[in-house]
Amino acid sequence: MSALRVNNLYRYFGQLKAVNGVTFEVPHGSVCGFVGANGAGKTTTMRILATLDHPTVGTAEVCGINVLHHPAEVRRLIGWMPDHFGNYDHMTVIEYLDFYARALGYKGKERRERVQEVIDFTDLGPLTERFSNKLSKGNTQRLGLGRALLHDPQVLIMDEPAAGLDPKARVELKHLIRVLAKEGKTIFISSHILSELGEMCDSLLFINNGRIVHHGDAESLKNGSETQGGFLYDV
Ligand code: ATP
Repeated sequence: MSALRVNNLYRYFGQLKAVNGVTFEVPHGSVCGFVGANGAGKTTTMRILATLDHPTVGTAEVCGINVLHHPAEVRRLIGWMPDHFGNYDHMTVIEYLDFYARALGYKGKERRERVQEVIDFTDLGPLTERFSNKLSKGNTQRLGLGRALLHDPQVLIMDEPAAGLDPKARVELKHLIRVLAKEGKTIFISSHILSELGEMCDSLLFINNGRIVHHGDAESLKNGSETQGGFLYDV
Protein backbone atom coordinates (compact mmCIF):
# COMPACT_ATOMS: atom_id res chain seq x y z
CA MET A 1 0.00 0.00 0.00
CA SER A 2 1.29 3.48 -0.82
CA ALA A 3 1.68 6.21 1.78
CA LEU A 4 0.00 8.69 -0.56
CA ARG A 5 -2.41 7.80 -3.33
CA VAL A 6 -4.10 10.44 -5.45
CA ASN A 7 -6.48 9.26 -8.14
CA ASN A 8 -8.00 11.36 -10.89
CA LEU A 9 -8.07 14.42 -8.64
CA TYR A 10 -9.72 17.66 -9.73
CA ARG A 11 -10.16 20.91 -7.80
CA TYR A 12 -11.98 23.77 -9.43
CA PHE A 13 -12.29 27.28 -8.04
CA GLY A 14 -15.17 28.59 -10.17
CA GLN A 15 -13.89 28.30 -13.75
CA LEU A 16 -10.29 27.87 -12.66
CA LYS A 17 -8.99 24.29 -12.80
CA ALA A 18 -6.33 24.46 -10.10
CA VAL A 19 -5.90 20.67 -10.07
CA ASN A 20 -6.91 19.07 -13.32
CA GLY A 21 -6.91 15.27 -13.26
CA VAL A 22 -3.93 14.40 -11.08
CA THR A 23 -2.97 10.77 -10.37
CA PHE A 24 0.13 9.61 -8.50
CA GLU A 25 1.37 7.40 -5.68
CA VAL A 26 4.18 7.87 -3.19
CA PRO A 27 5.56 4.64 -1.68
CA HIS A 28 6.01 4.28 2.08
CA GLY A 29 9.37 5.46 3.36
CA SER A 30 10.29 7.45 0.26
CA VAL A 31 10.94 11.13 -0.38
CA CYS A 32 8.95 12.62 -3.26
CA GLY A 33 9.59 16.11 -4.59
CA PHE A 34 6.68 18.10 -6.04
CA VAL A 35 7.99 20.69 -8.48
CA GLY A 36 6.13 23.42 -10.32
CA ALA A 37 5.91 27.14 -10.98
CA ASN A 38 3.69 29.63 -9.13
CA GLY A 39 0.06 28.64 -9.45
CA ALA A 40 0.81 25.15 -10.82
CA GLY A 41 -1.42 23.44 -8.25
CA LYS A 42 1.08 22.20 -5.62
CA THR A 43 -0.46 23.81 -2.55
CA THR A 44 -4.00 22.86 -3.57
CA THR A 45 -3.00 19.20 -3.99
CA MET A 46 -1.13 19.23 -0.68
CA ARG A 47 -3.97 20.93 1.18
CA ILE A 48 -6.37 18.23 -0.03
CA LEU A 49 -3.97 15.54 1.26
CA ALA A 50 -3.72 17.45 4.54
CA THR A 51 -7.58 17.43 4.83
CA LEU A 52 -7.73 21.23 4.60
CA ASP A 53 -9.51 21.33 1.25
CA HIS A 54 -11.74 18.92 -0.64
CA PRO A 55 -11.59 17.52 -4.16
CA THR A 56 -14.15 18.59 -6.74
CA VAL A 57 -13.75 15.10 -8.23
CA GLY A 58 -11.44 12.19 -7.45
CA THR A 59 -9.88 10.67 -4.37
CA ALA A 60 -6.87 11.20 -2.15
CA GLU A 61 -5.70 8.64 0.41
CA VAL A 62 -3.06 8.64 3.11
CA CYS A 63 -1.93 5.12 4.06
CA GLY A 64 -5.08 3.77 2.42
CA ILE A 65 -7.41 6.13 4.31
CA ASN A 66 -9.64 8.45 2.32
CA VAL A 67 -8.95 12.05 3.35
CA LEU A 68 -12.51 13.18 2.75
CA HIS A 69 -14.20 10.35 4.65
CA HIS A 70 -11.81 10.03 7.60
CA PRO A 71 -10.05 13.38 8.09
CA ALA A 72 -9.34 12.90 11.80
CA GLU A 73 -7.58 9.58 11.18
CA VAL A 74 -5.58 11.11 8.34
CA ARG A 75 -4.49 14.02 10.56
CA ARG A 76 -2.99 11.57 13.02
CA LEU A 77 -0.89 10.09 10.23
CA ILE A 78 0.41 13.27 8.66
CA GLY A 79 2.55 16.19 9.73
CA TRP A 80 1.62 19.29 7.75
CA MET A 81 4.09 22.10 7.25
CA PRO A 82 2.36 24.91 5.32
CA ASP A 83 4.29 27.51 3.33
CA HIS A 84 3.16 30.18 5.80
CA PHE A 85 2.17 29.45 9.33
CA GLY A 86 1.04 31.54 12.24
CA ASN A 87 3.71 31.91 14.90
CA TYR A 88 2.13 33.90 17.65
CA ASP A 89 3.98 36.96 18.87
CA HIS A 90 2.85 36.45 22.44
CA MET A 91 4.31 32.94 22.64
CA THR A 92 7.88 31.85 23.08
CA VAL A 93 9.18 28.86 21.15
CA ILE A 94 8.53 26.49 24.04
CA GLU A 95 5.08 27.94 24.76
CA TYR A 96 4.20 27.59 21.09
CA LEU A 97 5.18 23.93 20.92
CA ASP A 98 3.53 23.22 24.26
CA PHE A 99 0.33 24.86 23.02
CA TYR A 100 0.23 22.57 19.97
CA ALA A 101 1.16 19.48 21.97
CA ARG A 102 -1.78 20.29 24.27
CA ALA A 103 -4.07 20.73 21.26
CA LEU A 104 -2.95 17.28 20.06
CA GLY A 105 -4.10 15.82 23.38
CA TYR A 106 -0.73 15.18 25.04
CA LYS A 107 -0.71 15.57 28.80
CA GLY A 108 1.79 15.92 31.63
CA LYS A 109 5.11 14.12 31.29
CA GLU A 110 4.36 12.79 27.83
CA ARG A 111 3.67 16.33 26.60
CA ARG A 112 6.91 17.65 28.03
CA GLU A 113 8.79 14.75 26.43
CA ARG A 114 7.25 15.27 23.00
CA VAL A 115 8.08 19.00 23.11
CA GLN A 116 11.64 18.31 24.26
CA GLU A 117 12.12 15.72 21.55
CA VAL A 118 11.24 18.12 18.76
CA ILE A 119 13.30 20.90 20.34
CA ASP A 120 16.30 18.56 20.38
CA PHE A 121 15.68 17.35 16.85
CA THR A 122 15.32 20.84 15.39
CA ASP A 123 18.17 22.23 17.51
CA LEU A 124 15.96 24.98 18.92
CA GLY A 125 17.30 24.44 22.45
CA PRO A 126 19.08 27.82 22.77
CA LEU A 127 15.97 29.62 21.49
CA THR A 128 13.20 28.17 23.65
CA GLU A 129 12.56 31.49 25.45
CA ARG A 130 12.68 33.59 22.26
CA PHE A 131 9.33 34.99 21.07
CA SER A 132 8.35 32.97 18.04
CA ASN A 133 7.86 36.02 15.81
CA LYS A 134 11.44 37.12 16.51
CA LEU A 135 13.03 34.07 14.92
CA SER A 136 15.08 34.14 11.73
CA LYS A 137 13.44 32.60 8.67
CA GLY A 138 15.56 29.46 9.08
CA ASN A 139 14.58 29.04 12.72
CA THR A 140 10.95 29.80 11.90
CA GLN A 141 11.04 26.85 9.49
CA ARG A 142 12.62 24.69 12.21
CA LEU A 143 9.75 25.64 14.50
CA GLY A 144 7.22 24.80 11.78
CA LEU A 145 8.93 21.45 11.27
CA GLY A 146 8.96 20.82 15.02
CA ARG A 147 5.27 21.59 15.22
CA ALA A 148 4.55 19.18 12.33
CA LEU A 149 6.53 16.43 14.08
CA LEU A 150 4.96 16.73 17.55
CA HIS A 151 2.73 13.67 17.11
CA ASP A 152 5.50 11.69 15.35
CA PRO A 153 3.55 11.32 12.08
CA GLN A 154 4.35 8.64 9.50
CA VAL A 155 4.02 11.06 6.61
CA LEU A 156 5.34 14.60 6.37
CA ILE A 157 3.86 17.03 3.84
CA MET A 158 6.01 20.13 3.43
CA ASP A 159 4.91 23.04 1.24
CA GLU A 160 7.95 24.95 -0.04
CA PRO A 161 9.88 24.72 3.23
CA ALA A 162 13.09 26.05 1.65
CA ALA A 163 11.55 29.19 0.12
CA GLY A 164 13.33 32.30 1.32
CA LEU A 165 16.05 30.43 3.20
CA ASP A 166 19.68 31.38 2.83
CA PRO A 167 22.08 28.63 1.59
CA LYS A 168 23.19 27.64 5.11
CA ALA A 169 19.63 27.30 6.41
CA ARG A 170 18.76 25.34 3.28
CA VAL A 171 21.57 22.86 3.86
CA GLU A 172 20.49 22.49 7.50
CA LEU A 173 16.88 21.87 6.50
CA LYS A 174 17.98 19.27 3.95
CA HIS A 175 19.97 17.53 6.65
CA LEU A 176 16.89 17.30 8.91
CA ILE A 177 14.82 15.95 6.02
CA ARG A 178 17.46 13.31 5.31
CA VAL A 179 17.44 12.22 8.96
CA LEU A 180 13.64 11.92 8.90
CA ALA A 181 13.81 9.93 5.66
CA LYS A 182 16.36 7.57 7.23
CA GLU A 183 13.94 7.03 10.12
CA GLY A 184 11.51 5.73 7.50
CA LYS A 185 9.11 8.63 7.26
CA THR A 186 7.43 9.31 3.95
CA ILE A 187 8.13 12.88 2.84
CA PHE A 188 6.24 14.83 0.20
CA ILE A 189 7.94 18.18 -0.35
CA SER A 190 7.26 20.96 -2.82
CA SER A 191 9.46 23.59 -4.41
CA HIS A 192 9.71 25.88 -7.42
CA ILE A 193 13.29 24.86 -7.87
CA LEU A 194 14.27 21.39 -9.00
CA SER A 195 17.86 21.65 -7.81
CA GLU A 196 16.60 22.31 -4.27
CA LEU A 197 14.99 18.87 -4.21
CA GLY A 198 16.64 16.59 -6.74
CA GLU A 199 19.45 15.09 -4.72
CA MET A 200 17.39 14.20 -1.66
CA CYS A 201 14.35 12.78 -3.44
CA ASP A 202 13.68 9.23 -4.52
CA SER A 203 11.14 10.48 -7.03
CA LEU A 204 10.00 13.78 -8.50
CA LEU A 205 6.61 14.90 -9.68
CA PHE A 206 6.39 17.87 -11.99
CA ILE A 207 3.07 19.70 -12.13
CA ASN A 208 2.11 22.34 -14.66
CA ASN A 209 -1.31 24.03 -14.96
CA GLY A 210 -2.85 21.49 -12.61
CA ARG A 211 -1.56 18.44 -14.51
CA ILE A 212 1.28 16.07 -13.72
CA VAL A 213 3.60 16.27 -16.70
CA HIS A 214 6.34 14.03 -15.39
CA HIS A 215 6.89 11.50 -12.60
CA GLY A 216 10.29 9.91 -12.27
CA ASP A 217 13.73 10.28 -10.71
CA ALA A 218 15.83 13.43 -11.12
CA GLU A 219 17.68 12.06 -14.14
CA SER A 220 14.56 11.01 -16.04
CA LEU A 221 13.03 14.43 -15.40
CA LYS A 222 16.06 16.15 -16.87
CA ASN A 223 15.60 14.12 -20.05
CA GLY A 224 11.81 14.39 -20.16
CA SER A 225 10.46 15.97 -23.32
CA GLU A 226 7.84 17.92 -21.36
CA THR A 227 10.53 19.85 -19.57
CA GLN A 228 12.78 20.71 -22.49
CA GLY A 229 13.77 24.34 -22.88
CA GLY A 230 15.34 24.74 -19.47
CA PHE A 231 12.11 26.01 -17.92
CA LEU A 232 12.39 23.80 -14.89
CA TYR A 233 15.94 24.78 -14.16
CA ASP A 234 15.29 28.48 -14.33
CA VAL A 235 12.22 28.82 -12.11
P1 ATP B 1 2.75 28.73 -5.55
O1 ATP B 1 4.06 28.13 -5.88
O2 ATP B 1 2.61 30.13 -6.02
O3 ATP B 1 2.37 28.55 -4.11
P2 ATP B 1 1.07 26.48 -6.28
O4 ATP B 1 1.66 25.55 -7.27
O5 ATP B 1 1.11 26.05 -4.87
O6 ATP B 1 1.67 27.93 -6.43
P3 ATP B 1 -1.79 26.72 -5.89
O7 ATP B 1 -1.64 27.58 -4.69
O8 ATP B 1 -2.23 25.32 -5.69
O9 ATP B 1 -0.44 26.71 -6.74
O10 ATP B 1 -2.79 27.47 -6.85
C1 ATP B 1 -3.25 26.90 -8.07
C2 ATP B 1 -4.22 27.87 -8.71
O11 ATP B 1 -5.41 27.89 -7.92
C3 ATP B 1 -3.71 29.31 -8.73
O12 ATP B 1 -4.15 29.90 -9.93
C4 ATP B 1 -4.39 29.95 -7.53
O13 ATP B 1 -4.57 31.32 -7.72
C5 ATP B 1 -5.71 29.21 -7.50
N1 ATP B 1 -6.29 29.09 -6.16
C6 ATP B 1 -5.75 28.46 -5.11
N2 ATP B 1 -6.56 28.52 -4.04
C7 ATP B 1 -7.66 29.24 -4.45
C8 ATP B 1 -8.87 29.65 -3.78
N3 ATP B 1 -9.11 29.34 -2.52
N4 ATP B 1 -9.75 30.36 -4.52
C9 ATP B 1 -9.51 30.68 -5.80
N5 ATP B 1 -8.40 30.30 -6.47
C10 ATP B 1 -7.49 29.60 -5.80
